[in-house]
Amino acid sequence: MTPWFDPSRVFIGGEWHAPAGCETLPVIDPSTGEEIARIARGSAADIDAAVIAAEQALAGDWGAMPAFQRGRILARLGQIVLDHTDALAEMEARDVGKPLTQARNDVIALARYCEFYAGAADKLHGQTIPFQPGFTVYTLREPHGVTGHIVPWNYPMQIIGRSIGAALATGNACVLKPAEEACLTALAFADLAHMAGLPPGALNVVPGLGAEAGAALTAHPGIRHVSFTGSVATGRKVQAAAAENVVPVTLELGGKSPQLVFADADLDAALPFLVNAGVQNAGQTCSASSRILVERAVYDEVCARMAEAYHALTVGPAMNDLRVGPLISARQKGIVEHYLAMADPAQILARGQLAEGLPDGGHYVAPALIAGIAPDHALAQEEIFGPVQVILPFEDEEDAIRIANGTPYGLVASVWSRDGARQMRLAKRLRAGQVFLNNYGAAGGVELPFGGTGLSGHGREKGFEALYAFTSLKTVAAHHG
Ligand code: NAD
Repeated sequence: MTPWFDPSRVFIGGEWHAPAGCETLPVIDPSTGEEIARIARGSAADIDAAVIAAEQALAGDWGAMPAFQRGRILARLGQIVLDHTDALAEMEARDVGKPLTQARNDVIALARYCEFYAGAADKLHGQTIPFQPGFTVYTLREPHGVTGHIVPWNYPMQIIGRSIGAALATGNACVLKPAEEACLTALAFADLAHMAGLPPGALNVVPGLGAEAGAALTAHPGIRHVSFTGSVATGRKVQAAAAENVVPVTLELGGKSPQLVFADADLDAALPFLVNAGVQNAGQTCSASSRILVERAVYDEVCARMAEAYHALTVGPAMNDLRVGPLISARQKGIVEHYLAMADPAQILARGQLAEGLPDGGHYVAPALIAGIAPDHALAQEEIFGPVQVILPFEDEEDAIRIANGTPYGLVASVWSRDGARQMRLAKRLRAGQVFLNNYGAAGGVELPFGGTGLSGHGREKGFEALYAFTSLKTVAAHHG
């Protein structure tokens, strides 16, 4: 896999440049542990150059462009992304260790974000407000200016699509710092955006380490909004840095999301979602469902059926396109193994299998289903970010809500039940930014606002809601007598 661009460069002002420090970082294929490319180790100087390029774009063609033309560029970009599906999917599979089919889905999601925000670009407007006689009052929705985007390694294309798509649609100019573990599709996206006619400087990409390029971006006084997806620990630093400059942040920090299975549920329908939501992307998903809460009457049956499904899961290299790929890094594998060591062997109800002949250097962990632990156990409380699910029994609706809401997170929850009144009650009482009734995740749904509460973060991305986050509201009160 050789990208069509030189990934050891930064993309600033519509051009590829060597990073200011001329240093690079390795790109490791998680399936093999081998180096497959080098990326730029961007620094504060590169971030500064990117912010200046973005400011120039806002002062020039990009800032003057009408909304419908921004939409046209995004629409073209969506089509160009689709035209590059095979190349982007392979790049992401090799870079992230994501099975090829899942990587292809991410390409399609990226294109859908471009399409959705293309259509939305000229449909965002302010209001007129009835006020005193002699006044006309209206509101304007204006771009923040230069926006900073810090993206993790687990779903680079999807997270770039939702964040950059909304920011460009509303007329901001973006500086993107992708994760050092997986940068390739971010760089490819910038190149494709240029191909689609995005003016120079409207999107700049500076790869690099979080503590260097990432910290420089969040601290930069030219950045007027920060969108961050990643860990709670880094989210706190990002928010603190943004507070220094008094700029708004959107934080999306993961979760410990539950699925609640009641005895009256359609178990045949639920089962694939129960398992897939835990092992998709090897469990490295902010909205992964890592807790399965089951009403006592069907607990044994759900345990048995999930265990059977686990036995059928095979883990292997991304390009072999099995159900589960490797973890992103040796470090992430170490974190997951550390958590697994907390369970007694008898509490590990089932595990998937490692495929034969795996490359020695790959970061493979067989998925694990854990039962018989208390809801306050670390395994049931902390985000593991690996293919690990815990299954917990509950006695009744109150007990289910208590356990479901009993973590510091609040990203996603789902309810499996045929009782409509119960669905409505629980949708209101579950502490989560998204509640799914008899499904999980709604197949991604680019149209659906997404974000969390508690340690899962704040602010909303995706859907129309994101357009509000990426704009600032101005009230104009005209006195005309
Ligand atoms: P991280 O939060 O450190 O990294 C995410 C992004 O933030 C990367 O682009 C990184 O370069 C950047 N970053 C790191 N330090 C920064 C700083 N000081 N200032 C600005 N940006 C900075 O996450 P990680 O170390 O890659 O993973 C650790 C854990 O985070 C995982 O085990 C998982 O629990 C969680 N995580 C969650 C998500 C999610 O989607 N919510 C994604 C990735 C990781």
